[in-house]
This record gives sequence, structure tokens and C-alpha cells, in this order.
Amino acid sequence: MNARPPIRWDDNGQPRRPGPKIMHAKHDEKREAIILNPDSFGVYIHWFADVRRNQPCTGQHCRCNSEPVNVSWRTYLGAWDVRGKKTCIVELPSQGWGDSGLLKVRQERGTLRGIGIELDRFPRVKTGRVTVRRLRVDDAIVAALPQPLDVKAELERIWYSRL
Ligand SMILES: [Zn+2]
Repeated sequence: MNARPPIRWDDNGQPRRPGPKIMHAKHDEKREAIILNPDSFGVYIHWFADVRRNQPCTGQHCRCNSEPVNVSWRTYLGAWDVRGKKTCIVELPSQGWGDSGLLKVRQERGTLRGIGIELDRFPRVKTGRVTVRRLRVDDAIVAALPQPLDVKAELERIWYSRL
């Protein structure tokens, strides 16, 4: 199933510590973010109903080899939550990432850092397609952004620590 080698994940079972939350597109509220990381981070994930959470595909030893689970591609971006004034991890489904044009932006600019995005859904229902619109960001705001996030470490904290 994997076109690329699976990412290695740590499962340390530690209590969850505070940290950036995942920002999803919502159907009833537009959300604004400024990308902090030069690159996106893409992962195959599964929804495991028994633990009620998404976890990444771990390849050869993954539960998807022995039980029927859905698989989907997600793109994660270390970002600044403009309204919440805090760091976050923007999550895009494969459709939203594909439609966003951000891959082309990355290729042309050499980095995604400093790109402003507005997340929305159309139509405005929970299952609406994720739309990503570019927002203009002043240079002074880009200059004052925090450092890029360790997106993989933050996802491990969210996915693998005990609640
Ligand atoms: Zn898997």
C-alpha cells in the first residue's frame, strides 16, 4: 500500500503534555493560519475505532496488514493560528492538499514558510470539500513568526501519548 517507506514512530505511552493542537477545516467557521515550516509532512493514517483516534500507518507491522481498516493520506503543516495567536498543526485531507496548490508554491518559492492560508469547507457542511485560499501576509508579520515546529514529534505527542 505504501509508495514510500513508512515513517518510524515512537510509542512511549507517556501522559500527554501540552502542545500545539491540530487545526482542521470547519464547516461553520473560517480559520486562518500562517505556515511556519518550509515543507509539508505527509502521512498515511488509519482511524482505529477501538482507541477512537487516528494513528499513522506503521507499514510492515501495522494493524492494517491483519484487519480491515480504512487508509487515508493527510498532510500536516506546522503553522501559526492567526486568531488563536498560538502555534498549531494544520491538517489537510488529500483532496484539500491537492486542490490547495501549495505543492506548486513550495516548488516555486523553495519554502512554504510565511504563506497565509484560510481554511473553509464548501459546501458548508461537515463533509464539504476542504478549500484553502491564500492570504496576503505582511513582511513584518512573517519576520516575527516563531520557529518551525517539529511536526513529527508533535504528532507523536498527540497520537501516541495517553490521554
Ligand atoms: Zn497501516
